[in-house]
Amino acid sequence: MSALPFELPAFAPGWVWLTGAGPGDPGLLTLLAHHGLAQADVVVYDALVSEAILALARTEARRVYAGKRGGKPSPTQADISERLIALAREGKRVLRLKGGDPMVFGRGGEEALSLAAAGIPFRIIPGVSAGIGGLAYAGIPLTHRDSNSVVTFLTGHNAAGVVPDEIDWQALARGSPVLVIYMALKHLAVLSERLIAAGRPAEEPVAIVSDATLPTQRVLETTLGRAAADAAAAAMAPPAIVAVGEVVRLRVHLDWLGAVARKERAQAALASTTGGKTSD
Ligand code: SAH
Repeated sequence: MSALPFELPAFAPGWVWLTGAGPGDPGLLTLLAHHGLAQADVVVYDALVSEAILALARTEARRVYAGKRGGKPSPTQADISERLIALAREGKRVLRLKGGDPMVFGRGGEEALSLAAAGIPFRIIPGVSAGIGGLAYAGIPLTHRDSNSVVTFLTGHNAAGVVPDEIDWQALARGSPVLVIYMALKHLAVLSERLIAAGRPAEEPVAIVSDATLPTQRVLETTLGRAAADAAAAAMAPPAIVAVGEVVRLRVHLDWLGAVARKERAQAALASTTGGKTSD
């Protein structure tokens, strides 16, 4: 990266930078995240952090995986916090790298509380959350003056892995025209049922965006009534973000990524018929 016309903070030994890696596309990293990767001694990362982003760490930096590993029990939150504290006490520059934004359904708050309790100095570097950046890459605005001035982020499952009971579905259905649901895929049938029972129309538009912002991104447009069946039929796989609300209809005009892909395909087709000569 070319030299910046301003200073970014130095990463002092013994500090933890609790950093958001964004939803996947490395271009969505913040300058601070990039700066942290370039200086860290240890990068402690989660499952949703892409290889392309980890590759930005110094070659001599230690990479510590703190996510779930197929079949094996994942490290507990206490294990991870203890690890961060121990590394900081060894005088390491510790980059704690989490998918999206560390403070959005990412337990960043819990880790920061442990660091604070242990007296470890830390910085929080926000990232583009999947519910925001992922929908932007799908061409779906979160708010639109004609349809909503409220948007709600919720999680489809709680710490126990079930649809959270503490959600007031009636209030949510009445009060928030747009819902952005994280970790929704597994419980989509129950989530849709709850929303429909609370008064949302079964025909309401829904978009499911998997692998948002990555080359493998897929978007399925469906309705609340059909969402679970359509997601299963289309073999939609996590990580996926679910958007519910009229704003989903705007995608037909705003799917910029689809437009880019169509243009590239058209250019490639033209190149193959004209022997490789194309103009923009
Ligand atoms: N802190 C993260 C969220 C962690 S919870 C953030 O701010 O984005 C994990 C959930 O985030 C996944 O189940 C999925 O719902 C969503 N998610 C994360 N990355 C995603 C991606 N690239 N595409 C779609 N959903 C994603």
